[in-house]
Amino acid sequence: MTRKVAIYGKGGIGKSTTQQNTAAALAHFYGKKVLIHGCDPKADCTRIILGGKSQTTVMDTMREYGEAAVQIDGVVKTGYCGIRCVESGGPEPGVGCAGRGVITAINLMEDLGAYTPDLDFIFFDVLGDVVCGGFAMPIREGKAQEIYIVASGEMMALYAANNLCRGMIKYAEQSGVRLGGIICNSRNVDGEVELIKEFCKMIGTQMIHVIPRDNIVQKAEFNRKTVTEFDPECNQAREYKELALRIIENEMFVIPQPMSMDKMESLVVKYGLMD
Ligand code: ADP
Ligand code: MG
Repeated sequence: MTRKVAIYGKGGIGKSTTQQNTAAALAHFYGKKVLIHGCDPKADCTRIILGGKSQTTVMDTMREYGEAAVQIDGVVKTGYCGIRCVESGGPEPGVGCAGRGVITAINLMEDLGAYTPDLDFIFFDVLGDVVCGGFAMPIREGKAQEIYIVASGEMMALYAANNLCRGMIKYAEQSGVRLGGIICNSRNVDGEVELIKEFCKMIGTQMIHVIPRDNIVQKAEFNRKTVTEFDPECNQAREYKELALRIIENEMFVIPQPMSMDKMESLVVKYGLMD
């Protein structure tokens, strides 16, 4: 059974970094077969798995050569540890709806049979919070069954996480999608872990793991690698390995209860959050 997992979170929070490093750990340490489907119009969700090679996106191929030209060989590339990578891409800037591109690309991959049954995990790396229907699509139509939200101890990250939960409850009953937890990608803000734990408790989920902030992430990225490929013995690689294991063993899947704005505000006040 393939587990279809979507990673959400505010822009710049570390979704693509966390997701690629976790995928690398799943493949390297646990022998899992993984496919990453990047759903960000920036098409940068798979770069460190592919050693920095930029990927021909589904939308680019469609635009230039038509839908019939989109073939698995052209848009699915294999990178570190056999991890398969595809990027939806986006419309030309200022033209068309990027969310629409996500829907089109996922449907096309399904029709072409890119999501083969031998895969243990498919990760959808989805831009921002639920800004429009297209980006909500992986959760709305049951394309992903599990959601993890990347957050840190900053107000805007928690607002985005709460918003995502509000989007989720609209579709969870019908699509079966569940929240698997919040990943704290640390910014080293005071009281961060306590804050995220309290937030998790209030919305009915768990903080699945804390990923420390460490410059080795940038160093590896500069070498176009995940930390696992760069230095599998380092502490940061161990953290991604731990997160990978917690995801493998996770049994806590919930329909979250988003917080009211009043409650959000009081949490923000209690922890004295300022961006
Ligand atoms: P998103 O996909 O959410 O927009 P990215 O994954 O691109 O965000 O992350 C933004 C930047 O933050 C990246 O360039 C990455 O180097 C850095 N980053 C993310 N997580 C960490 C971490 N745990 N430690 C150090 N740097 C990190
Ligand atoms: Mg990203």
